[in-house]
Amino acid sequence: MNKFVYTQPVKIWFGAGKLKELGSVLDELEVRKAVLVCGHHYLTHAQTLQQKEPRICAIFSDVEPNPQLSGAVKTAELARANGADAVIGIGGGSSIDTAKFAAAIACGDGDPEAIYHGELPFPEKRLTIIAVPTTAGTGSEVTQVSVMSHGKEKRTINNPVFMPRAAIVDPEMTLSVPPRTTMNTGLDALAHALEGYWSVNHQPISDLMAIEAVRTILADLETAWREPDNLEARSRMAYASLLGGLSFALPKTAACHACSYPLSEDYHLPHGEACAFTLDSFVRINADERLEALCCAVGLSGTAELADRIRSLKEMAGLRMRLADLGEVDLEKLCHDCAVHPLMNNNPVKLSTEQLRKMFEALQ
Ligand code: NAD
Repeated sequence: MNKFVYTQPVKIWFGAGKLKELGSVLDELEVRKAVLVCGHHYLTHAQTLQQKEPRICAIFSDVEPNPQLSGAVKTAELARANGADAVIGIGGGSSIDTAKFAAAIACGDGDPEAIYHGELPFPEKRLTIIAVPTTAGTGSEVTQVSVMSHGKEKRTINNPVFMPRAAIVDPEMTLSVPPRTTMNTGLDALAHALEGYWSVNHQPISDLMAIEAVRTILADLETAWREPDNLEARSRMAYASLLGGLSFALPKTAACHACSYPLSEDYHLPHGEACAFTLDSFVRINADERLEALCCAVGLSGTAELADRIRSLKEMAGLRMRLADLGEVDLEKLCHDCAVHPLMNNNPVKLSTEQLRKMFEALQ
């Protein structure tokens, strides 16, 4: 058995209605004042929450999908102006990642753009991060990753400064997610579990969580998509998303996520749909004894059935699956950008630009 180091520093509060315990979480973390970060869909709820919890001193509610650095900078300014010692991100990955970046830059005066580009280090001090996911997908509540865009550029920044101190995973928060986003984000969680499992840096504890996440998603994603109000299915998906986050947090993701970046940046697919676009192709490409063992553990006949199940989930929800669905595609650039993405190095099968071209051509 290989040697490994496993660590998971986030305290997790899980369960329907758990957000009602926000006050106790703030007490436990000794938070005096917090800025709340969310998207437009949550603004009214955020204001109600603020009335009940006066330690929420300000709200930044302008987070959009593929969140911009400027939103994190504005949040950091709000935190400084109000003397906040914590940032609470309530939303999908976009809001949580904005909260993380804001908390990491709020205590310094370095140029945020230079920090974003890695030309300046993050300040030594940072604010406490509390993550409250409202989608079942990214697992950002338990990772040290913040994915931020600056103009057209989208960067995945991996740094311990982004690790939340607390995650409140309340499945009730996901009841309002529209069906298409439920499918996109659910397939993102599946991609996390599979990529954490097949990453060249995989390790036994993460593997266990990946297997349980895959089993749960295959059993419950369709129900959560068909029956948005089904709290049991939503709860199981929130749990699977959390496990997905834990299963890739240390091993990192691989080829499928590498390809998702050009697909989001140039063809505007939401993150989960971009991951789903190539996920079944990579199941076939990465099929080996270990992946067969995962399939067997989750009750599938093998990797071919896993790939077929992913395809039929995509078809069912009407996700984009073919190159023709993306408009005019510059295949040369797409294959090049996928091939040079650093996450490609984590894939168990090394792929040339030519092999990626063949994979995309098969998706005509
Ligand atoms: P998102 O946060 O971009 O949200 C998608 C849409 O759903 C938005 O319009 C949002 O307002 C809406 N929404 C969210 N929750 C809702 C709810 N409960 N009810 C109704 N509408 C709701 O989507 P996401 O897939 O959660 O996050 C994607 C982002 O996270 C991408 O930028 C991706 O790169 C990043 N990401 C980060 C990590 C990490 O570890 N930090 C991991 C994976 C992905």
